[in-house]
Amino acid sequence: MQRLQNKIAIITGGARGMGARTSRLFIEEGATLVIADVLEEEGQALADELGPRASFQRLDVSDEANWQRLVDDTLARHGRIDVLVNNAAVLTFGAIGALPRETFERVLAVNLTGTFLGISAVTPIMCRQGAGSIVNISSVDGLRGVNALAAYAASKWGIRGLTKVAALELGLHGVRVNSVHPGGVDTLMSNPGGVPRESLADQYRMVPLQRIGAPEEIARATLFLASDEASYCNGSELAVDGGMSAGFYYEGLPGSPTAPVSWDANHEQGDQRHG
Ligand code: NAD
Repeated sequence: MQRLQNKIAIITGGARGMGARTSRLFIEEGATLVIADVLEEEGQALADELGPRASFQRLDVSDEANWQRLVDDTLARHGRIDVLVNNAAVLTFGAIGALPRETFERVLAVNLTGTFLGISAVTPIMCRQGAGSIVNISSVDGLRGVNALAAYAASKWGIRGLTKVAALELGLHGVRVNSVHPGGVDTLMSNPGGVPRESLADQYRMVPLQRIGAPEEIARATLFLASDEASYCNGSELAVDGGMSAGFYYEGLPGSPTAPVSWDANHEQGDQRHG
């Protein structure tokens, strides 16, 4: 059985990148899907390609009236909403002191307020249904701090907090709310130049798995939380980051990228010790 069979799902920012990959996976898993994005051409083209169970609707996540229209239209066409993935986001760089207030507020408006508006729009519907799953795409930057990302990190930490509150309030009504925390992923956001993944190895040296992530690796985590397989996950945060948030390396000490342990050599030593 497909994991989203008979489920009606909405993915924001579903027109490209991770959202588009998640849209493809949701369709493969049987969902009926509304791709919601500001990118009309890309979103419509993807919906056309994915077939009759996919449709596109223009949505600016920071606009409350847009959300109302999306939810009303989805209900009119499909009668229910089972899954919402709050994935749309923007990223800006700027050091504190040089980051204009307007930029800070715009990032929060899309990433955090957009997620709040999405949760708010589906809450009455899912709570009346007595079932639903909301997956909020946060980031590894919602689990720790990084220079130059004051606005983005604040928005992603905010999503994490919002997820916990929503999990408490909506959980009472059978609605699950969880967050996904991707590390660096090969999309326009983290790899705007489209550099081949292998060439990025040096940049991702401090990630335990030593590489950038692929959009499908995040999509699979989102699918899990969206589906009934995660029926007892509520308020959880799933890091899908190659270990980036697990800690940091003391460079040069054993077990770090600059002083990796040679297990072949150890094995030989062990053999000698016990020989
Ligand atoms: P992306 O830039 O390729 O895609 C973002 C999507 O959001 C685009 O389709 C864009 O049009 C849409 N969007 C932006 N503003 C919008 C708005 N106001 N209303 C509706 N849609 C809007 O980026 P991505 O890498 O696919 O990012 C997807 C999610 O994953 C985001 O939440 C991002 O913060 C998160 N994330 C990405 C990475 C990464 O390394 N790529 C890492 C951690 C978290």
